[in-house]
Amino acid sequence: MSKIIVLMGAPGAGKGTQARLLQERLGLPQISTGDMLRALEAEDIHTTQTSGKLISDEVVIGLVKKRTEQDDCNHGYVLDGFPRTPAQAEMLEKLAAAQGKDLIAILVDVPAEILEKRLTGRRNCPVCKEIYNVFFKPPKSDNVCDHHPNNQLEQRSDDRAERVQVRLHTYENQTRPLLDYYRESGRLRTVDGTREPEAIYKEIEMMVKS
Ligand code: AMP
Repeated sequence: MSKIIVLMGAPGAGKGTQARLLQERLGLPQISTGDMLRALEAEDIHTTQTSGKLISDEVVIGLVKKRTEQDDCNHGYVLDGFPRTPAQAEMLEKLAAAQGKDLIAILVDVPAEILEKRLTGRRNCPVCKEIYNVFFKPPKSDNVCDHHPNNQLEQRSDDRAERVQVRLHTYENQTRPLLDYYRESGRLRTVDGTREPEAIYKEIEMMVKS
């Protein structure tokens, strides 16, 4: 039976990196609600995103429903950043049942003090989208991409320190309780997200294939 892989974890835990690897190597589409919302031409949504607060369940649920109806999702897909609230989790149960898919939740677990540096230190190249981190993976020259030295690195507006606090707070209050929900129904797996992405990926791949 095809599966819905729900990548759980705080902002900065590395869900996006793992979702991209699953897409590249297992052909499971990465469905990132954060990316889908950023791609919309909707100023009010971007203002809320920048603030670090959540977009309404109605909007996000609508996007996920529509995206997962596409043919490339028939054999399973990876959710990155969804669900984030109990209402979204409830909708996902219904969607999984209607699509005849099993669901597993994988928590990419990273301590809070590391998350803060991963987020506030994150920079990306506007050309090739390579991700750097001023604390953990600095570019060779200050604030420019190693491959595109004429381009200054950019910082996501919600990665600024005060907004990171709001995002981590929102995660603790609204999203972390969902872990208990998946744990109680025996569908939660946990990986140590402090290791190298490849090591984390290998473990996740085994969970997905089992
Ligand atoms: P992300 O790229 O996953 O860190 O998401 C960035 C921002 O997009 C979040 O801080 C929220 O404002 C919004 N967002 C992404 N996914 C959701 C979701 N499932 N529910 C509500 N808001 C979301």
